[in-house]
Amino acid sequence: MSRITHEMNHEFADAAWQERHAVTRIDQLREWMRVDADGSLMRDVELGLARAPMAMRITPYVLNLIDWSNFLKDAIRKQFIPVGSEILPSHPLLKMDSLHERENSPVDGLVHRYQDKALLLATDRCPVYCRFCTRSYSVGLDTQSVSKKRAAPFQMRWHSILAYLRTNPVIVDVVVSGGDCFRLKASRLLAIGMGLLSIPSIRRIRFATKGLAVLPMKVTSDHEWTDALFNINHVGRDQGVEISFHTHFNHPGEITDYTIAAAELLFKQGIRMRNQSVLLAGVNDDPEVMKQLVKRLSDIHIQPYYVYTCDLVEGIEHMRCSVKRACQIENAVRGITAGYNTPVFVVDTPGGGGKRDVHSFEHYDRQTGLAVYRAPSVRPNQLFTYPDPLQSLSPDAQAAWLNPKRAERILSDAVETARVKSMSGLCGMQK
Ligand code: SF4
Repeated sequence: MSRITHEMNHEFADAAWQERHAVTRIDQLREWMRVDADGSLMRDVELGLARAPMAMRITPYVLNLIDWSNFLKDAIRKQFIPVGSEILPSHPLLKMDSLHERENSPVDGLVHRYQDKALLLATDRCPVYCRFCTRSYSVGLDTQSVSKKRAAPFQMRWHSILAYLRTNPVIVDVVVSGGDCFRLKASRLLAIGMGLLSIPSIRRIRFATKGLAVLPMKVTSDHEWTDALFNINHVGRDQGVEISFHTHFNHPGEITDYTIAAAELLFKQGIRMRNQSVLLAGVNDDPEVMKQLVKRLSDIHIQPYYVYTCDLVEGIEHMRCSVKRACQIENAVRGITAGYNTPVFVVDTPGGGGKRDVHSFEHYDRQTGLAVYRAPSVRPNQLFTYPDPLQSLSPDAQAAWLNPKRAERILSDAVETARVKSMSGLCGMQK
């Protein structure tokens, strides 16, 4: 396939065309590479892919946003195309399914961690695959390094999911995610929306999707799919159920005229939109970039809602930021605009404690880079730790983490200090 821009090809605005031309193989990617005379960048990408937990899938729309002359530093490229030379050893605390989602799944494809809300995993496919995907254990195709844990086919799980939600009326809020609802057929999207709306206890349904950031023309060109979404929204509004879109923009450069047109259409239909970003080194770990993102999202009626510190995922240690850096960026962003458009910076705690405000640690040792959080509403008797990336630490601290006995000691010391601080009312104070 030759390199195509929207100026060159009117089909660019058609979601089906974008899906058909999504790049999934290295030979297709080579066609887009402008500056790689000796082939060294492509070899680097091959090395990256060999170690990546996520398969490659990128829409031409996203490929067109990449500055290929600045390939290694480009913020969009970094999210989707791995290169071997930037991959660092993972933190020793890394585990597959670091948020313990499978442990919190009472039925296959439904995560029930927080008391009144549940996460419905409707598909394991996405319009693109992000390198830092939390669900790298199950989303997308197998890679050379990871065989995915597949859920049973949707039709087999759907009835047990609905039955669980019906018999647990405490659940009032359902997040439909995956994978990504942009890969659901219109008929399935409708079935899921209407199925959830048939349960009187459900008051809020959110569709969590990267789609608006990577395939916005789905909203403006796939009318069957959009009609299904609008149908769900109308029925929901009649029943007093809020239908919302939770988007995933990480960089202001991801907001284009296509995004503006799609967001406008959703806004006119009364669909609330909120954004969840991931804080990524080299992408948005810069206060000015984050401020621009917040402003641009607010201008198109997408409420900047959360900024997550990046979860522990294989092959992306160089993209994680420390808790200290997340706090600095949060401090810089707070106050630039209305409070309701100011994102909360959170750590989704490894081990299943759920999301905690990044500042709310019980204890944070900046030398070892370990923060300890409590999650009283999720697991009151447990403490949860989040480690800074190794490369943000001193050589001595890095060496300590790589020694299993010293690493064990770092963990137990931090947890013990957090317990003592929390008993003496010093929570959040830094060492
Ligand atoms: S779109 Fe979401 S679910 Fe899909 S790969 Fe990216 S982060 Fe993971």
